[in-house]
Amino acid sequence: MNYLDEFRDRQVVLGFAERIRGLVEGRTTPMTFMEICGTHTMAIYQYGIRSLLPAEVRLISGPGCPVCVTPNGYVDRAIALARLPGTIIATFGDMVRVPGSSTSLMEERARGADIRIVYSPLDAVALAARNPQLRVIFLGVGFETTAPTIAGSILAAEQQGLANYFVLTAHKTIPVPMQILADDPELRIDGYLCPAHVSAIIGANAYRPLAEKQGIPCVVTGFESTDVMQGVEMLVRQVLAGESRVENQYRRVVTAEGNVRAQAVLTRVFTPCDVAWRGIGVIPGSGLRIAEPYARYDAERAIPVAVEALREHRGCLCGEILKGKVSPFDCPLFATTCTPEAPVGACMVSSEGTCAAAYKYGR
Ligand code: SF4
Repeated sequence: MNYLDEFRDRQVVLGFAERIRGLVEGRTTPMTFMEICGTHTMAIYQYGIRSLLPAEVRLISGPGCPVCVTPNGYVDRAIALARLPGTIIATFGDMVRVPGSSTSLMEERARGADIRIVYSPLDAVALAARNPQLRVIFLGVGFETTAPTIAGSILAAEQQGLANYFVLTAHKTIPVPMQILADDPELRIDGYLCPAHVSAIIGANAYRPLAEKQGIPCVVTGFESTDVMQGVEMLVRQVLAGESRVENQYRRVVTAEGNVRAQAVLTRVFTPCDVAWRGIGVIPGSGLRIAEPYARYDAERAIPVAVEALREHRGCLCGEILKGKVSPFDCPLFATTCTPEAPVGACMVSSEGTCAAAYKYGR
């Protein structure tokens, strides 16, 4: 048995399913647990986790896909910047296909814009170093997981004395929207499967206010099928015991304090700000903007540009999907006019998007 297989052991998964069924048998009201990580969403569809759970345990997906929660206005600004002469847009692959109000970066590339896919923000810094006559703008989209590497790229650009490297930021932090969704009476969330990657940076203790002040059980959970099933069982046991604690199922990666060095880099380069989440709106203090000493690297402040008026995609339910209020199968466009090849909304684009996961594994 190799290292990964033991975390996908069918008998172990079925054992969890059996135990969960026994624990909730006879319960009249279902428990609702939300996963807050696009990789969990993908794993839950891929391993058919919902089909293993009894009707008394309901899993819903939350705003855990960074590309999906980035609103149209950000994509529109990136497109406006891409149209400026002498500009290279550097980005991770998913963002290229996300539709803005009227076009996408992929369409702009077909029209001649210089848009490059990179695998690390440091690749974008290297691109700026090789092209001093051009400005290179990296699209900084992501949660606490990616933000430290982007902060590191700004420090690297400073160290190299580059004046042509910029970041267009849309960074978001996870705990604040979790607190807001926990208070939503329509959702009635009984517990959170807390994200794995994000928690490796911020630490399991970051969810203590949710558990201790708002009374929501939290379990930091890994990505494999046995991880998810064990995380669900831990949540079920907390609910049945009337407890709300932070538990860490993913101890092989996540610690209580998280990655203190990464947190220090984040605090040095970024500062908290209000930011818009697709479907949720502006959440005070849930974003990260580039701090004043590094403002010259902030594309939004350093490069003024006219951005087209915002338009939402008619019929797309991404906003409601990201709040866990509907599933992709409730969207009339799902798998008809909206497919991974021709996505209408961001949730169908990203490999971590709920609609993309449902399309790939749930039909
Ligand atoms: Fe939006 Fe497409 Fe998902 Fe419908 S299926 S919510 S149109 S991304």
